Amino acid sequence: MTNIQQLKTILQNAGSIVFFGGAGVSTESGIPDYRSADGLYNTKYAHPPETMLSYSFFLRHTSEFYRFYRDKMLYPNAQPNKAHLALAELEKRGKLKAVVTQNIDGLHQQAGSVNVLELHGSAHRNYCMDCKKQYPLETIIRAEDVPRCSCGGLIRPDVVLYEEGLDGRVMEKAARAMRDAEVLIVGGTSLNVYPASGLIRYYGGGKLILINKSETPYDAYADLLIRENIGETLGACVLEG
Ligand code: ZN
Repeated sequence: MTNIQQLKTILQNAGSIVFFGGAGVSTESGIPDYRSADGLYNTKYAHPPETMLSYSFFLRHTSEFYRFYRDKMLYPNAQPNKAHLALAELEKRGKLKAVVTQNIDGLHQQAGSVNVLELHGSAHRNYCMDCKKQYPLETIIRAEDVPRCSCGGLIRPDVVLYEEGLDGRVMEKAARAMRDAEVLIVGGTSLNVYPASGLIRYYGGGKLILINKSETPYDAYADLLIRENIGETLGACVLEG
């Protein structure tokens, strides 16, 4: 049996599936991983992304933060790929209980997924740091420089910056989803980013499926290891017959 056939069988028999995904899920939609080696260190920015995406940098160099953020983190025209669509379809069929994602692009919701736990927040939510008024992504894109609220306050994206902690409620929901899952599919992540990577330790179901093009520290624990493109794999299992 091929990997695809095995996965298909597992998904057909599964009562509850949870998906945990990282940047690799969105690269097929044309959103590059900002941590990727060929990227930013060779570009016009003087600091590494971990610095430019930190909370202290945001406060001290807000204009430069937004220049980088708009340039490298926002892809308003990106469309969901087969991975997003397949997961939305599995949820519609009642099999998939939650998508846990490290991405901030909102593509799972755009594909139709409802229960999406965004560990790092969302670029689609933004708020004034003074009066908490909410703003859409559009406001950030359209602002000439630093986006300002009608009250004059600074607008920030509702994304988790370096130096900031993850949202405890989201983490708790994600941990519970992992613990209750019968099948856990992990895809498009190297599982190196702490503490999100620690989440999969909550899973004890015995059907861990890892789909990633490169090696991960958890490969040895996988019950099914697929070293393929995630969109193609999930698409073939769910969307194509
Ligand atoms: Zn305000």
